Amino acid sequence: MIALSLAEIAAVVGGQTHDIPDPSVQVTGPVVRDSREVVPGSLFAAFVGERVDGHDFAPQVVKAGAVAVLASRPVGVPAIVVEDVQNALGALARHVVARLGATLVALTGSAGKTSTKDLIAQVLSGKAPTVFTPGSFNNEIGLPLTALTATEETRFLVLEMGARGIGHIRYLTGLTPPRIGVVLNVGTAHIGEFGGREQIAQAKGEIIEGLPEDGAAVLNADDPLVRAMAPRTKAKVILFGESAEADVRAENVRLTDTGQPAFRLHTPSGASDVTMRLYGEHHVSNALAAAAVAHELGMSAEEIATALSGAGSLSRWRMEVTERPDGVTIVNDAYNANPESMRAALRALAAMGKGRRTWAVLGKMAELGDEALAEHDAVGRLAVRLNVSKLVAVGGIEASWLQLGAYNEGSWGEESVHVSDAQAAIDLLRSELRPGDVVLVKASRSVGLEGVAAALLETG
Ligand code: ATP
Ligand code: MG
Repeated sequence: MIALSLAEIAAVVGGQTHDIPDPSVQVTGPVVRDSREVVPGSLFAAFVGERVDGHDFAPQVVKAGAVAVLASRPVGVPAIVVEDVQNALGALARHVVARLGATLVALTGSAGKTSTKDLIAQVLSGKAPTVFTPGSFNNEIGLPLTALTATEETRFLVLEMGARGIGHIRYLTGLTPPRIGVVLNVGTAHIGEFGGREQIAQAKGEIIEGLPEDGAAVLNADDPLVRAMAPRTKAKVILFGESAEADVRAENVRLTDTGQPAFRLHTPSGASDVTMRLYGEHHVSNALAAAAVAHELGMSAEEIATALSGAGSLSRWRMEVTERPDGVTIVNDAYNANPESMRAALRALAAMGKGRRTWAVLGKMAELGDEALAEHDAVGRLAVRLNVSKLVAVGGIEASWLQLGAYNEGSWGEESVHVSDAQAAIDLLRSELRPGDVVLVKASRSVGLEGVAAALLETG
């Protein structure tokens, strides 16, 4: 973070200083909300949670070197006291970001935000110092905390923005106004909370509404609801996708025999070949979004293609491929699932498993509303068409739809099994796996299949 005195911080957040002998003392960063992350020079933000009250840690964090506590009441140690700590954090982030010389890139979408943020960060890092959200730190607290880690050297600040409702992203862009806004896709994530896909599009599109005229809105040409957002910005629009009219597009998209996507990248400045290290063709769309951002920031097609080809996974449980010592390969994609990424993961499994026994350990895809039965059925059928050797459907009714789809497609018998929970899947696989097998583990977050992947890796 850029160094700020306690007096300046108090002024920015409209707070009162308490127990501060010398207000000219500087916070050199970082600003943290977790007492375990405090280092000398930190500012500790005290939040009142359901189980713990950050204010209780005040003496401890000061002992650990925190310069002061940003608090909602005096705590007996140096503190800046404000009415609302979250608002204060937001105000501080807004102030700091305005003083930085960095270009802000913000992205949202129903699926792929973190994967794409990680790609953008890796591509831009090759060009200039880049700060980005760790993991999925994408809400009204995580976002300011991330922005506050930027320094004078930071050239690019890449921020993931999540939306749980109308107005939410507008609030986030108000704190950290982007010059480049990216919308990846509009799916069905959180559809229950929103009330429909149109509402989701309304909420996500807020990310391009406040862009300056010299900014850029990076939109997915292949997603009609995203494309239709173009009139909502006064910035230039850059379309990415496989559609012919996309400004940044992929041609000749294919999977290598290791299951990794390869394509020819076209940008307005040229064309170059990409072979990704990430698994699954859904990453092509994510890669194109990253390429569009990098193009706007002055990188050539060749530079972008090289960076995309070298980019790895920075976040866990997303097509994480691990080879056990006995030659069993585990593909852990248990972070989340939707129909598109299920299909992509199955195709990657089929490509990786040529000549080997392949297992698809799958659970439900959440939040599909009326389409749930048909979508699970279709995934089960695809597993058969791709010649997956064994389907293990884990969980309740959705798992039985997966199995039914497989059964109807190929009149399968023993090739597909339905087990009630993760432990049953672990027991089955532990006794059945043989050297050389490839196992994909994937379901929506709530199913918690990462435990299956972890258990299988331990066995090895
Ligand atoms: P969250 O809302 O939890 O922060 P996110 O939008 O950040 O999620 P990621 O963490 O990148 O998304 O990916 C979550 C899952 O979505 C991945 O495991 C993968 O299955 C799927 N996914 C990633 N990219 C895409 C995409 N472009 N289209 C569809 N599904 C995708
Ligand atoms: Mg995320």
